[in-house]
Amino acid sequence: MSAARPVIGRFAPSPTGPLHQGSLLAAMASYLSARTRHGKWLVRMEDIDITRSHAHHADMILRQLDALGFEWDGDILYQSTRNEAYRAALDSLRRQNLLYACDCRRATRIGGGRYTGVCRERGLPLQETYAWRLRAEKIVVRFFDRIQGDCYWQEAPGAADLILRRADGLFAYPLAVVVDDAAQGVTDVVRGADLLAATPSQRYLQALLGYVDVTYAHVPLLLQADGRKLSKRDQAPALTPTAALTDLQQAWFYLGQRRLVSCGSVTEFWAQARLEWNEARIPRQAQRLRKC
Ligand code: GLU
Repeated sequence: MSAARPVIGRFAPSPTGPLHQGSLLAAMASYLSARTRHGKWLVRMEDIDITRSHAHHADMILRQLDALGFEWDGDILYQSTRNEAYRAALDSLRRQNLLYACDCRRATRIGGGRYTGVCRERGLPLQETYAWRLRAEKIVVRFFDRIQGDCYWQEAPGAADLILRRADGLFAYPLAVVVDDAAQGVTDVVRGADLLAATPSQRYLQALLGYVDVTYAHVPLLLQADGRKLSKRDQAPALTPTAALTDLQQAWFYLGQRRLVSCGSVTEFWAQARLEWNEARIPRQAQRLRKC
């Protein structure tokens, strides 16, 4: 039997806005999941989409993490510096004849909804002005998510034909995330449940690129009182350094953990949190914001 790999977790925010209470759930769960197993915890700035990312948000996120007492290992990896690695992965898929060009606009998809593989047989040349898609066969993916339980997906051919290189020339997020997790030796992906549905195609891509398997835990989303997801896009209130301890305690609560006693500072919070952390207590369902 091979020895277990040392745990490497990561937090991978997109710098499209500052961190909010919902992002803190993913940051905290990934941090404690790694640290309580003596693992490393990396921060990766997912600024691959330069049309939506901003350096000032990236700097702000790092300041917020610092004020919240997170300690990360090594240097921050910025996806905007990783084009060579993404191009190499794309070349490998191209050599396997797994890419095709697509010129569909969102509105022309069947019913305006899911892509069905219409460009597969059109034979458009793989040139810069087109999006490049993965030619995915029938996908059957099973995996165990430590929070969401057994996950099973089946997709018809075409339905999971991800865009890996966009028509504007940018590499797409699913490619970047899979390449970077492998390059950084990540063993443990702990992130928001909004990415659960993207996981099967990411696992499929990992297998095509010959990467080692990773484990998953998708933490519940945090919803506003009216049921909408708390998101940067909806201008969720940013976490402020002065409220760090309260924000940590709230995130701890939403993650279903037992109340910590006599915890008067951020340092004390983390010391106790490491001792008391119990991933099995994390609820599956989305949580609504409430006073706690
Ligand atoms: N960058 C993504 C986000 O901020 C997270 C990606 C991931 O954790 O895999 O939503």
